[in-house]
Amino acid sequence: GRGNLSFTSINLPRLAIKAGHDIQKFYQELDELIELVFRQLLHRFKIQCSKKGRNYPFLMGQGVWIDSDNIGPDDSVAEVLKHGTLSMGFIGLAECLTALTGKHHGQSAEAQKLGLEIVSYMRKRMDEKSEQTGLNFTLLATPAEGLSGRFVRIDKKVYGEIPGVTDKDYYTNSFHVPVGYGISAAEKVKLEGPYHAMTNAGHISYVELDGDPSKNIRAFEAVIRCMHDNGIGYGSVNHPVDRDPVCGYNGIIDTVCPRCGRTEAAHRMRKVVPRIRIKQPVRCSLGDE
Ligand SMILES: [Zn+2]
Repeated sequence: GRGNLSFTSINLPRLAIKAGHDIQKFYQELDELIELVFRQLLHRFKIQCSKKGRNYPFLMGQGVWIDSDNIGPDDSVAEVLKHGTLSMGFIGLAECLTALTGKHHGQSAEAQKLGLEIVSYMRKRMDEKSEQTGLNFTLLATPAEGLSGRFVRIDKKVYGEIPGVTDKDYYTNSFHVPVGYGISAAEKVKLEGPYHAMTNAGHISYVELDGDPSKNIRAFEAVIRCMHDNGIGYGSVNHPVDRDPVCGYNGIIDTVCPRCGRTEAAHRMRKVVPRIRIKQPVRCSLGDE
């Protein structure tokens, strides 16, 4: 009965670069940016609320949203849209931590501690805004595609190449451990798990397998159980899938294509796709805090 009305993602690495290694300055800059995001989300919300039922014929006519049943074509939708969420997202916690401390959360327990502090602080600020306004301000672990590349391109131009921060093509999504970093699946899941409860607008963690999970079901199950036990609200296990361009078979091709028997395995096309996603009820509390 709710929907996300809009979200704005912030560039954490840039805040960290600007702060130097001064954590206090970082939080000051973060606060200013949160205020700006807050005003922007409210501004958009006002525009959305100025519409009438007829502007959203599907949403308002199908009883999808809470309280939308009695909205006529000429009624304001404000009373319905107030149930939606307004979210702040973030990119590049890993590069942010590297800029602040020299290491990201995969490399150092200290960095992980700071990472948890930063993200729980952002969540706290969203909760405060919700309290003040009676609206639903939430924190999003942005699943950025284009934005993570765009932010780093802009920052590289302004601040130059900073090792571990801007010397890459993409900032790391949300709270993820950097993709190329050597780490076990279990360790990655343990590090990313605690951020799921803090990001109440949405989150996902990935584990990418380099082989065929159907050949090692116990390993696959171990990954799923590990995700479950570490508070992963939404997890994805990705693994390679081959396609035989000749017969069109989709699946794992070791040496012989199971459909046509071709042995020219080198001609297969391999890509990595999300095959299994697990979802468990989102825990939205900040635990003891
Ligand atoms: Zn084939």
